[in-house]
Amino acid sequence: MKRFFMAIMLGLGVVSFASVACAQDHEFRGGDFRTGIEWKEPPIVTPGETPAVPPSDAIVLFNGENLDEWTGGQWDVADGVITCKPGSGPMYTKKKFGSCQLHIEFACPPVDDPNAKGQARGNSGIFLMNHYELQVLDSYENPTYFEGQCGSIYKQFPPYVNCVKKPTEWQTYDVIFTRPILRTEKDENGNEFVAEVIRPAYITVLLNGCVVQNHWAIQGDTFFHRTPQYQPHADREPIQLQDHNNTTQFRNIWIREIPDSNVIPCQNRMNYYN
Ligand code: MG
Repeated sequence: MKRFFMAIMLGLGVVSFASVACAQDHEFRGGDFRTGIEWKEPPIVTPGETPAVPPSDAIVLFNGENLDEWTGGQWDVADGVITCKPGSGPMYTKKKFGSCQLHIEFACPPVDDPNAKGQARGNSGIFLMNHYELQVLDSYENPTYFEGQCGSIYKQFPPYVNCVKKPTEWQTYDVIFTRPILRTEKDENGNEFVAEVIRPAYITVLLNGCVVQNHWAIQGDTFFHRTPQYQPHADREPIQLQDHNNTTQFRNIWIREIPDSNVIPCQNRMNYYN
């Protein structure tokens, strides 16, 4: 009983200390409000000359030279461009990523086969954390189901607008992705499963400079034949480029690791403001 009482008091002490730590410097010095939180100084980063040029802290995944940063399908590299080699399988980054900012440029192949329609035209995809597909598709005068067109989170959310360019024209994706936080357990057979989605993955996407997804809460993985489900995976996973039997091209791929957003500075956000 005594131990229990001490644990309660200790717990209350921690809570009240956290409140004080968060609230103590909410001062108005000459009318200047300060949070009292000791923020780390933001690192200095040199931006690229244009938004398409990697900033100084970016990891360049493809600069037109080789596939040193990639494994998996043996796609072709020529003239500064990667071309999917149909049937060779997807490509994966050797490095693994969680929350990130990703820049990637793509071009859909010319329409050689007039019978190729819908999902059969210029199909590829960018799988964040190897699980969550941002669709790449030739959606120029090529209708398909909306949650499967270019700019969609595949089988989950359509893009706000269809702002694609014509086949063979270069297009840009700029993606801001927040990794999910999943609590897993093991069943009686020792198989791991997601017992709780503590925080879903979030995604914001600009396609050719237009916002097509804004902080969507991703519903789970993106298979074509079933509802989305969160599956256990690590905090960092490869980026996958999908081989969907089309000769879709890619170039100028770079990524920046970013802190998880939605991290609350204090245990209780109310303490931050009150
Ligand atoms: Mg696809």
